[in-house]
Amino acid sequence: MSQLGHLEAGSRYDLHVGISPDAPDEDELQQGTQGAFGYCHSYETASRYDGPGLRVVLFVSGCLLRCSYCHNPDTWHLKDGTYVSAKEVIDRLAGFAPALRALDGGLTISGGEPLVQAAFTRRILTGAKRLGLHTAIESSGFLGDRVDDRYLSVLDLVLLDIKSSDPVTYRAVTGRELAPTLRFAERLAALGKPVWVRFTLVPGLTDAPENVEGIARFVAPMKNVEWVEVQPFHQLGAFKWKAMGLDYKLSETTLPPSTLVSRVLEQFRNAGCRAR
Ligand code: SF4
Repeated sequence: MSQLGHLEAGSRYDLHVGISPDAPDEDELQQGTQGAFGYCHSYETASRYDGPGLRVVLFVSGCLLRCSYCHNPDTWHLKDGTYVSAKEVIDRLAGFAPALRALDGGLTISGGEPLVQAAFTRRILTGAKRLGLHTAIESSGFLGDRVDDRYLSVLDLVLLDIKSSDPVTYRAVTGRELAPTLRFAERLAALGKPVWVRFTLVPGLTDAPENVEGIARFVAPMKNVEWVEVQPFHQLGAFKWKAMGLDYKLSETTLPPSTLVSRVLEQFRNAGCRAR
């Protein structure tokens, strides 16, 4: 059993490693505690980027993907997170709730992947709803099969990362299969659950016109998709790869020029998506 710690405010660009060395592997986590405890990286208190209004963003640990452009490799493993109680997270959130409500915001759980610790994140989302907050998760959708009706009932928005429309590219980028993400997207569409699709634009990796076109065509008919957000690749997380002794293959990759960003936005808009 990991030692209980305290949740620290911070930033997605803080480096956290080796805090809970006896944590289980993220792909073997049992949800036996009913989500009363879990592993977190940090939280930010004033994001205007991760959902509507002003957001508290909680970064939880654990991810089964290994995206080559990930800026948070220190969220991949539960052992790098701090073991905290859901109650502490919710109590901390309660202090911000009046401001979040006043500014039409709420809670976004990101990571890592919130669905690795589905029982824990569901419990936190439930607490947030009791505080009258709008709730969102940012997810790759790879573990979408873990989302049941109870989970969806306390979730107002999914920020769904669709990293590629091409299974070969998706595997090259993430090390995993594309199909579960598309399946989750289709399920959310059938239920009418609001979604913002996020696409990370990486020169030489995800920028092929046909790759973008494939996502655009897939998403355009989905009435529940309120936005497609194109996220230009950046190097802000590169230092983490180096500090953790990981093999970072994108050190020479440049930021996408504005002409490329414009082309990709245009592709989404021409297909009928609201894109920004
Ligand atoms: S899904 Fe997110 S947290 Fe997981 S490896 Fe990819 S970018 Fe990193």
